[in-house]
Amino acid sequence: MKKSLQILIEERTYDILFELEDELNLNLGVLPEVYYIGRNFNFGDIEIDKKDPGIKMLKIYPEIGFYFFQKKIIISNTLKEGVLGEEIGHFIHHNFVKDFSDIVNDFGASAIGEMIGFFCSKLIDYKRKSPYKSDNFQKIYSLKEMMLEIKSCIKEEGYFDLVHQQGYLMGEKLYNLYISNLISKKEVRKIIQNPLNGHNQAFLEFLRLREKFTGHNIPF
Ligand SMILES: [Zn+2]
Repeated sequence: MKKSLQILIEERTYDILFELEDELNLNLGVLPEVYYIGRNFNFGDIEIDKKDPGIKMLKIYPEIGFYFFQKKIIISNTLKEGVLGEEIGHFIHHNFVKDFSDIVNDFGASAIGEMIGFFCSKLIDYKRKSPYKSDNFQKIYSLKEMMLEIKSCIKEEGYFDLVHQQGYLMGEKLYNLYISNLISKKEVRKIIQNPLNGHNQAFLEFLRLREKFTGHNIPF
């Protein structure tokens, strides 16, 4: 009998987790739940609210995976390894960080999370490309301007894209450094395992990593 997409996606996602753990010398000892979401998938079955912003995104993008932070659940409508690799990257990162309730640190932690997700997806599928061509922070030179840009993106429902744009931009650079042996495995692990605890640490770490990978310094 042919294997169902549910079984195929589950098996492939766990394989990717083990591959990434081997690559980065990590041993998490836990697995996320993984679901294939076809047209008739009922989110109530996995106790996810129909109004969850993740579900909205699924309707916008034809091939997408999503990681539900609180429930440690990965959903995907595709077997594409790059997509599954990104969600596994979020799961790995989530083993070391908590949820942030304030916008400044949520932004920092989310952008770092997308960086790690994109980096992991490139380790699995090196051909994966960021769909984001611009950098909203390119012409920004102060924290005040950066905050205004973040707030205006929230207002225009562009927060999801801003977080991904910034994360993918840094993730691409991190990947290039890593495959060129210009950043060590140990340093990458340190970035992934940083709990981002302490006053505004998630945001400050985002600024530090952005400067490290893009050379763009914002004084604070
Ligand atoms: Zn992501």
